[in-house]
Amino acid sequence: VITDTTKTRRGAVSLRKLTKDYAGSRAVDGIDLDIPAGEFFTLLGPSGCGKTTTLMMLAGFVEPSGGSVVIDGRDVAHVPPPDRDIGVVFQNYALFPHLTVFQNLAFPLEMRRLGRPEIARRVGEALKLVRLEQWADSYPGQLSGGQQQRVAVARAVVFNPPVLLMDEPLGALDRKLRLQLQLEIRSLQRELALTVVYVTHDQDEAMSMSDRVAIMREGRIEQMGTPAELYETPVSVFVADFLGDNNTIPARAADDRHVMVGDVALRTPAHGLARDADCVVLIRPERVRISDAPATFSGVVHDVVYLGSASQYEIDVAGAGRLRCAVSHNGGHAVWEPGRRVGVELPADSVHVMPGDPTSKKE
Ligand code: ATP
Repeated sequence: VITDTTKTRRGAVSLRKLTKDYAGSRAVDGIDLDIPAGEFFTLLGPSGCGKTTTLMMLAGFVEPSGGSVVIDGRDVAHVPPPDRDIGVVFQNYALFPHLTVFQNLAFPLEMRRLGRPEIARRVGEALKLVRLEQWADSYPGQLSGGQQQRVAVARAVVFNPPVLLMDEPLGALDRKLRLQLQLEIRSLQRELALTVVYVTHDQDEAMSMSDRVAIMREGRIEQMGTPAELYETPVSVFVADFLGDNNTIPARAADDRHVMVGDVALRTPAHGLARDADCVVLIRPERVRISDAPATFSGVVHDVVYLGSASQYEIDVAGAGRLRCAVSHNGGHAVWEPGRRVGVELPADSVHVMPGDPTSKKE
């Protein structure tokens, strides 16, 4: 399984204008996407945005209404699933309960008509990969959820596909196990040089595992990039909201370098909005600066929550509303009590100004 040297060149995935209509509604709306071989690519978005439908069209379980699915230069839009050479892992494991772990893994190899010794060799290697060698003769029902999902992963890669699709594979597991399996899946992906297309609605999971992420919204890709690109330079309030915590402050454009927050002129990078246009200022809580000194804004501490490595303050700022501000505890730090007046700074290199987008809220 592991020693195929050609696999680094296999597994490039391209979607062209991929579309799926269900009676009266468009689940996937013309997706264009190029995933190079060996990339860990994640579709991230709220429930119903079309992630699963996109993945199922890639796998061949859902017929596209339009567009194409190209794998290594071959249009597979009308090729049946087993002939696409793609491994698939679902949230619910989908193991055969009446077959042993060994037999579950042997199944895709038998379908491909490999001989007994070759099957035994490959199943052994795949089980070793997920550290379940001792469980070959057990039945799925005798395994924990995490072990069952490892079996499902092993079964999905046992026939050496260049592409692995995963739909919320860790959704049924508790948090600790999820974190552990995230690491295992990532290292398996690297070891096998797999192209992984991963579906999740968990932003932390997407950010920590992926080379690149596509944020989906209503059947389209809203933004695509590395986790850092999406986090640092979101193109919309929707993306910024989806990736982590944000303060969203209503504002009005003033000139190329300022927006008005209440009656305070806030310096920001040029944003190209018409004067007086409604806009939104975004800033991450960890980028808001508070101090005892006078600053651009003045606020009053409403509440403070101790988070271990940081404290999160809620501060009422005239004209800006209630802002969240995370102060990390590296070394001694001042603790501002509720009711305390503080200076609040929104550093220009940390704010993003966008056209107002009232419909965008994380679901
Ligand atoms: P979730 O995380 O909840 O699974 P998702 O982002 O994966 O959401 P999809 O399952 O792809 O979204 O669904 C996209 C849209 O298509 C939804 O509005 C859904 O109701 C609709 N849809 C999905 N499958 C079908 C189907 N078989 N028949 C009709 N509508 C469907």
